[in-house]
This record gives sequence, structure tokens and C-alpha cells, in this order.
Amino acid sequence: MKDVYLSIGTNMGDRYDNLQQAIALLKQEKAIELVRISSVYETAAVGYTDQADFLNIAVHLKTNKSSAEMLQLCQSIEQELGRVREFRWGPRIIDLDILLYNHENIETESLIVPHPRMYERAFVLVPLVEITPTPLGKQLQQAHHELQQLDCEREGVALWKDCNKPLTVN
Ligand code: ATP
Ligand code: MG
Ligand code: MG
Repeated sequence: MKDVYLSIGTNMGDRYDNLQQAIALLKQEKAIELVRISSVYETAAVGYTDQADFLNIAVHLKTNKSSAEMLQLCQSIEQELGRVREFRWGPRIIDLDILLYNHENIETESLIVPHPRMYERAFVLVPLVEITPTPLGKQLQQAHHELQQLDCEREGVALWKDCNKPLTVN
């Protein structure tokens, strides 16, 4: 089984429901075992800032799927939830990114792992660090290290107050 870490984000419609549906679709996969889901965090959009706030989570799962199959699955979940790509970094119903795949470095035309922008994004690192209190391997250790460098941005990533029912693995 491979250890995989995903980042899931949403800033359109019922954001909590979007997260829940994405988790349900992951759970539905026989080849996937969910290990841990982070708390839900809310962050103002970065980059293209004229859009609604995001909810973000990180997920740790184990799977026999290849990295290409994982990317396919992430994209099929995005499609099933009705994601329409309007412009890069614009508003989205759901975005599933592969952060880490079994400590591997992958660089193909369609997939780069570790995710090329993960180490500079507090909204990715805060939930990831939460679910990896004891970081195993260089990539997770770097994630912890980079988050320490991002002190200011870290403050912009808040535990989502409206979350009275955390997302669970079971
Ligand atoms: P960002 O990558 O900056 O978070 P985004 O998630 O909005 O932006 P998408 O439109 O979801 O970007 O994806 C654009 C392309 O990125 C996808 O077609 C996919 O092939 C590619 N990609 C490369 N590496 C990854 C990865 N680690 N996880 C998910 N998609 C990836
Ligand atoms: Mg993304
Ligand atoms: Mg994406």
C-alpha cells in the first residue's frame, strides 16, 4: 500500500457539502483506505483574490493505485462534483491535488509530485502538518519546516468556525 496525501479545496456553493461529497467518493473506492482527515480550515483566496474564501482540508490515504490512477480518480471526482475549469486559480466547486505519493518524486506531463506549489502554500501546509504530527520522510519534514517559515501567512488559515461536525474517516 502506498501512502498518499491529498489537498482538497472549495470556494463555491455549499463548501462543506462539497468536501463531504469528495470524501464520500474517495471512501467508495475499494482500493483506497482513508487513514486521516484534517480539520476544516478557511482561507482567503491567494493569487486571484477577487473570489470567495476557500475551505481546505488535507487527507492521508493508503492505496494500491498508481500515481497516474490516483490523478485520474481525483479528476473524475472533480468532474462528478461538477467542476468547470473557467480560468486557472479561479473559483472552483472542488479541487483535489496530490501532494505526496509514497515519498516519490514524479514528473510527467500531467503529474508533478510533490505538488510544485505545496511548500509555499500555508493553506496546504497547515492541514497537512496537523495530520502528520510525527513527520516521516524528507518531504513531510520539509513541509513542517516550510510552514515554520510562513509564520504570517499561517495566521490567515483559520480553523473553520462553522464546522460543528468534523469530517471523519468512518
Ligand atoms: P494548482 O496546481 O496551482 O493548485 P489547480 O489545482 O487549480 O492549480 P488544476 O486546474 O486543478 O490546477 O490542474 C491543472 C493540471 O495540473 C491538471 O490537469 C493536472 O494534470 C496537473 N497536475 C500536475 N501535478 C498535479 C498534482 N500533483 N496534483 C493534481 N494535479 C496535478
Ligand atoms: Mg490546486
Ligand atoms: Mg488541481
